[in-house]
Amino acid sequence: MLRLPKFEVLKPTSVEETVDLIRSLDGETRFIAGGTDLNPNMKHRLFTPDYVIALGGVAELHGIQIAADGSMRIGAMTTLTNVNEATEIASRYPALAQAAGLVSGPQLRNMGTLGGNVMLDTRCQWYNQTYFWRKALGFCMKKDGTVCHVVEGGSKCVAAASNDSAPVLITLNAELEFASAPSSLMTFGSSGSDGSVTRKHIPIADLYKADGIWNKNVAPTDLLVAIHIPAPSANHRSAYSKLRDRGSIDFPLFGIAVRLDLDDNNTITDAAVCAVALQARPWPLKKAASLLIGKTVGSNEYSEAVELVAALAAKQCRPMPNIPGDHEYRHAMVPVFTRRAFRAIAAQ
Ligand SMILES: Cc1cc2nc3c(=O)[nH]c(=O)nc-3n(C[C@H](O)[C@H](O)[C@H](O)COP(=O)(O)OP(=O)(O)OC[C@H]3O[C@@H](n4cnc5c(N)ncnc54)[C@H](O)[C@@H]3O)c2cc1C
Ligand code: SF4
Repeated sequence: MLRLPKFEVLKPTSVEETVDLIRSLDGETRFIAGGTDLNPNMKHRLFTPDYVIALGGVAELHGIQIAADGSMRIGAMTTLTNVNEATEIASRYPALAQAAGLVSGPQLRNMGTLGGNVMLDTRCQWYNQTYFWRKALGFCMKKDGTVCHVVEGGSKCVAAASNDSAPVLITLNAELEFASAPSSLMTFGSSGSDGSVTRKHIPIADLYKADGIWNKNVAPTDLLVAIHIPAPSANHRSAYSKLRDRGSIDFPLFGIAVRLDLDDNNTITDAAVCAVALQARPWPLKKAASLLIGKTVGSNEYSEAVELVAALAAKQCRPMPNIPGDHEYRHAMVPVFTRRAFRAIAAQ
């Protein structure tokens, strides 16, 4: 049986108290939301924090609100089940509801949160293993070792971003609201301070970086408070298409999110496409998106453009042997799952 290491749990009830705790604690500290990723990782000794700050009691992190300008605020502690089932999300951002509903299985979605999904650690088949297993292999650069088993001689970890919500939120131009102590490492985004707490809004597209050891431009102790999504266009369409071994539970072997904004004639005025489960950060496909502008959904031109996008996605998305699943099979599935996303959009 795998046991958790020893740690102390702290339960703040406000953002201010959480930030004060971070500032005052001497030792490694991690937040826990639903714990569906952190707990297994701690059992595998990938993280051995001295303190774990449980976020469930922080009221500001809960709830879904729509502002007067039509934008939406989703508290970081909102569960994936709630994101999947909230009618205001499904009707405004169908891809987000769909992606949340495709994470893992029902039990984990009841506990797992959108914030935890955004902040998910990268994954690798040589890293997400027990301590015993990793030790027998000689460890790797991401934890306890010095070499990479995916890229021989490689100097950079290429563990894969594997969070289903991230590519969708990137196509939706979401912004993330973080809170931290004024001395935090956070260097991004516009900031405002209310005394002891600095709050920053960061476009999610700027959150992730190509470093599998820690793929975020914020520190692990910067608190994600909420996800803000701009109002959808009048004729918004979006879909998320996911390749995985078992439809009932698994992480993505490849995922692709698409957003299209249409005019009254169903002609595409704006588009965004983003892939995940390739390398350390989600992968926006900007050129592919540009091929769609001016095409009318349902027309022959649209079908032709989708084929071009699928071919370009296959060229640009090169799965590596970092996560389970044969990487050549994953590559062969890139155009298939890209087409499926567009087919789903045409049916909306
Ligand atoms: C069997 C299994 C299958 C899974 N399948 C999938 C899948 O298909 N797709 C997928 O995307 N994920 C999957 N997961 C991973 C996980 O269940 C989800 O990503 C979930 O959304 C994580 O949320 P959580 O609230 O449980 O995060 P936690 O485990 O509590 O935290 C995850 C990380 O985020 C940090 N964190 C959490 N909240 C905050 C916050 N507010 N501010 C700053 N940092 C924070 C934590 O410190 C930790 O590092 C799977 C996990 C398991 C065990
Ligand atoms: S890609 Fe995998 S094997 Fe290589 S350093 Fe990262 S976690 Fe370790």
